[in-house]
Amino acid sequence: MSDNVTKIINGKEISATLRAKIAQKVAAHIDNGGQRPGLAVILVGEDPASAVYVRNKHKACEEVGVYSEVIKLPESTTQNELLAVIDSLNNNSDIHGILVQLPLPKHIDKQTVINAISADKDVDAFHPVNIGKVMTGDYKFAPCTPAGVMYLLKASGVSTEGKHCVVIGRSDIVGKPMAMLMLHSGATITVCHSRTRDLAGVCRDADILVSAVGKAGFVTADMVKDGAVVVDVGINRLPDGKLAGDVAYDEVAPKASYITPVPGGVGPMTIAMLLMNTLAAADIELPD
Ligand code: NDP
Repeated sequence: MSDNVTKIINGKEISATLRAKIAQKVAAHIDNGGQRPGLAVILVGEDPASAVYVRNKHKACEEVGVYSEVIKLPESTTQNELLAVIDSLNNNSDIHGILVQLPLPKHIDKQTVINAISADKDVDAFHPVNIGKVMTGDYKFAPCTPAGVMYLLKASGVSTEGKHCVVIGRSDIVGKPMAMLMLHSGATITVCHSRTRDLAGVCRDADILVSAVGKAGFVTADMVKDGAVVVDVGINRLPDGKLAGDVAYDEVAPKASYITPVPGGVGPMTIAMLLMNTLAAADIELPD
């Protein structure tokens, strides 16, 4: 058991505060004669989860004064048709950010589509140019979910410098960029995955443990050091329809110094970071 009372990192509240600051920056920019920032989100097909994500992004844009264009295309859209839509958005000066909601239908090659988005409008930071910039640390667009984690830690007063951060998961979207951002912040990084030997032992050495696996109840109390900071990126749908993270929250929370809940932890930060990237794309000053 940790000596301190566990602090629950309230992502919902931190995200709401940040979105209010974003709205102020947009309003000030427009008051000063600047152009309204614009985000285009393309949804191909009828995936219900994707439709919810796209709706949430649209709503978040409207709330902070960002112009939002949602382009819904049928499942039967060809790759060339999608590339033509992207090309027109690349050349549309009202649109500063472009996002293609994943997953795409199987007949469309994801990487070809990502590569077609102008790197200057790639607010998801998935384009190889932007991934490379994240590697060097000199980037304009931060990968949204990992950047959301960094923001939560900073807002909670948790420093990563000199800490041993263990990231479980090595995906291109979460695990790898998470490790990079933590590395740039001065942490010592271990990235774990399905081939890692003695995963529990490695995790027990973590000062900050980030789980991005996608399995409910995966991180148990025996994998967590007393007083560790535990960040749960996982979003898993339980058989009863409820959402759960990767962390067995009830048994891990008493050992942790700080912990993010699911829902209400990392999740709300991802859209806030997308808005930050849209502001960056429009060269609008970012809030703290
Ligand atoms: P992926 O499925 O792409 O990656 C999962 C990672 O977990 C892989 O690297 C895999 O290892 C690793 N893994 C799987 N099983 C084990 C195991 N038994 N031991 C150790 N490592 C294991 O998922 P994502 O990165 O896209 O997403 C991860 C989770 O985060 C999901 O729940 C997703 O829904 C959530 N998510 C949440 C977001 C948010 O906004 N909060 C945004 C994006 C994702 P290997 O590479 O060896 O297969």
